[in-house]
Amino acid sequence: MIHKERIKNLNEFRSVDNQRGDYILYWMQASVRTHWNHALEYAIETANKMQKPLIAVFGLTSDFPGANSRHYQFLIEGLLSVKNELKDRGVILSIQFDEPPSAVLKYSDDASVIITDRGYLEIQKRWYDELKTSVDCPLIQVESNVIVPVETASNKEEYSAGTFRPKITRKLEYFMKPLQPRTLKVNSFDIDVESAAPNHEKVMKKLGLKDGMTPSIFHGGTKEAIKLFNEFLSEKLECYEKFKNNPVKNCLSNMSPYLHFGHISPLYLACKISRVGGCPRFLEELIVRRELSMNFVHYNDNYSTIRSLPEWAYTTLMEHASDPREYEYSLKELENAETHDEYWNAAQKEMVITGKMHGYMRMYWGKKILEWTDHPEKAYDIALYLNDKYEIDGRDPNGFAGVAWCFGKHDRAWGEREIFGKVRYMNDRGLERKFRIQEYVERIEAIEDHFP
Ligand code: FAD
Repeated sequence: MIHKERIKNLNEFRSVDNQRGDYILYWMQASVRTHWNHALEYAIETANKMQKPLIAVFGLTSDFPGANSRHYQFLIEGLLSVKNELKDRGVILSIQFDEPPSAVLKYSDDASVIITDRGYLEIQKRWYDELKTSVDCPLIQVESNVIVPVETASNKEEYSAGTFRPKITRKLEYFMKPLQPRTLKVNSFDIDVESAAPNHEKVMKKLGLKDGMTPSIFHGGTKEAIKLFNEFLSEKLECYEKFKNNPVKNCLSNMSPYLHFGHISPLYLACKISRVGGCPRFLEELIVRRELSMNFVHYNDNYSTIRSLPEWAYTTLMEHASDPREYEYSLKELENAETHDEYWNAAQKEMVITGKMHGYMRMYWGKKILEWTDHPEKAYDIALYLNDKYEIDGRDPNGFAGVAWCFGKHDRAWGEREIFGKVRYMNDRGLERKFRIQEYVERIEAIEDHFP
């Protein structure tokens, strides 16, 4: 079922003209999957109604802000699988080495209607704005990377999970409906579409990235996501409910890279885990926390800067900006994990080597960057820079919200102290009290030995 709230007409063309165009065009960009993809299923429904074929296009730009070869490696693994999966469903996918709007414009003249998926970042919004005025047919967006469409979940920026939770929770019963695949009636095999099937190596070469980044330990694609999620359900679920925050136990789902690149559907994950008895803690993270991040980047134009913070947090941090720091590190020292704190260094190395830091350590990591940098604004920028460079799930609404949380976003004021002001503080003694944190350090040392 595709709820009407997921579907939005982005331009002035309100009705589809059956006389116009030879095919339906699906501009795939944010939901790189054929599995539980509302935009794809809606495109198939539209093509079937109009008795026309469906083609798909993906714009592969090497200029996506902050993206490096670690991210492209993962993205392309998923994209090349999708190309084959779409073919099995009668849809030819053209991968264009171009900015997404230009890639779409190459095919838009002969399209009856263009259907796309939805991302929330500024650059994605810019693409939609650019295209809606430059195509001569309806441009329809179908939201598939959240469970509850962002404007339906709330019509304003939410203060915290506490204010957002009741709003989204009461809409879940309506939106948590499985999505069945439709069968396409007219395939697009005879349409002249640039559809060479380059292999992974050739695509990477063509992108010409020379940033020296190593791949993460994760492989992209829906199949890989489903395999990891099944392992999570059968082996880690109980551990997650009890020890989600424990970096020593390490029993997280590892779904964030797949959610970030649109390789897996959050709706699928939520329905699947609910079918096996549910896990309230997981659903809280996947639905309330994750979709609160979408709410943040959608409604807050400053989401990538310290100005996104609530007034109390910004003011208190600025009041303490010139407090003396016991330790102060440069970006280079932080990047190289050269601090006095072995727990922090381990977390930084986990991120640099594997491409994914444990969720609990991310909070500690961000708080310490604030503590050890000579100004909160600089600390904010450093945290985002490192997060987005090394995390395979970086450059995501969750990353912007996660860093902002370390500086007071979605949180309340605490007792005032040096540097942090009223922003919540975390220290190494907390890690020692809660976990056998030395075992985390040893686990990362073992990883370091394995990937020197
Ligand atoms: P699981 O615990 O298995 O959770 C399942 C899913 O729930 C995750 O994939 C994610 O989509 C969602 N989720 C879990 N924790 C959070 C959270 N705190 N906030 C919002 N959603 C959550 N997440 C990213 O996806 N990309 C980032 O770049 C990112 N950067 C962060 C930076 C900082 C400083 C902080 C404090 C948090 C950041 N997070 C980020 C949020 C969170 O740490 C990760 O989503 C989580 O660790 C991903 O691992 P997982 O999928 O194994 O998590």
